Amino acid sequence: MSQHGLTVGVVPTMGALHAGHLSLVEASCATCDATIVTLFVNPTQFGPHEDFQQYPRTLDADLQALAPYAVDAVFAPAVDEMYPPGFQTAVHVAEVTKPLEGAARPGHFDGVATVVLKLFNLTRPDLAFFGQKDYQQTLVVRRMARDLDLPVEVRVCPIVREADGLAMSSRNVYLSPSERRQALALSQSLELCRTMAAAGERNVAQMIAAAEDRFAAEPDVKLEYFSIADRDTLAPLTTLSHNGIALTAARVGRTRLIDNMLLSI
Ligand code: AMP
Repeated sequence: MSQHGLTVGVVPTMGALHAGHLSLVEASCATCDATIVTLFVNPTQFGPHEDFQQYPRTLDADLQALAPYAVDAVFAPAVDEMYPPGFQTAVHVAEVTKPLEGAARPGHFDGVATVVLKLFNLTRPDLAFFGQKDYQQTLVVRRMARDLDLPVEVRVCPIVREADGLAMSSRNVYLSPSERRQALALSQSLELCRTMAAAGERNVAQMIAAAEDRFAAEPDVKLEYFSIADRDTLAPLTTLSHNGIALTAARVGRTRLIDNMLLSI
């Protein structure tokens, strides 16, 4: 409980808000006395050849999208307010940042952990709301909060999807109509694994082979990884257990997308 007996929730985002972000805002407003939304395209979590420059920046539309919610403050700092000249500190979370996104995007999670800690220090939240869409990120933030004794509870909200299953993402605007159709390989391969798991399949190699076949059907989609892992450690599984999650990343044309799905048995 914060100083005045009221709970503060924070929803950290990079803006270009869609219904996925707004579900976090709704959860915060429903849970907390005050809600702060942060909008900041954080340069330190982008690699040198990634889309920091092109990333959509839509401040006016974001403020309009937030208007129906009981948001108490929007924090949209400039890059040099967050990283003034002389800035030289980074937060590094170790093991859980190594596989998957951490392997594909060196330095990404240092950027994420550092900016999230700064945003926590600037907003002093009791609760912080993150999306399962960035599953590994939720593990990294939880680990950091525990390891550094941060007085904040991390809440994770379900993935919001388009009607056809594509996970909502600010990067979906990059997709051409053909790429938009082919991007369904991500959610559909995950769904395939979920169906196999529900039908009793426990052999992870079989599930990954089926998922890879689904990707192979799309000429403009390049699979980066498809992993079935322990949902706490992200260590790959060979036999599906109760604690499984499937995670994938792929390039659709020039756009890199990620998605994941919990697998229950
Ligand atoms: P971003 O602006 O991409 O950094 O995302 C800000 C927050 O919104 C992160 O916690 C994301 O996991 C979450 N988020 C992004 N897309 C979705 C989605 N489709 N469903 C739920 N949460 C999401």
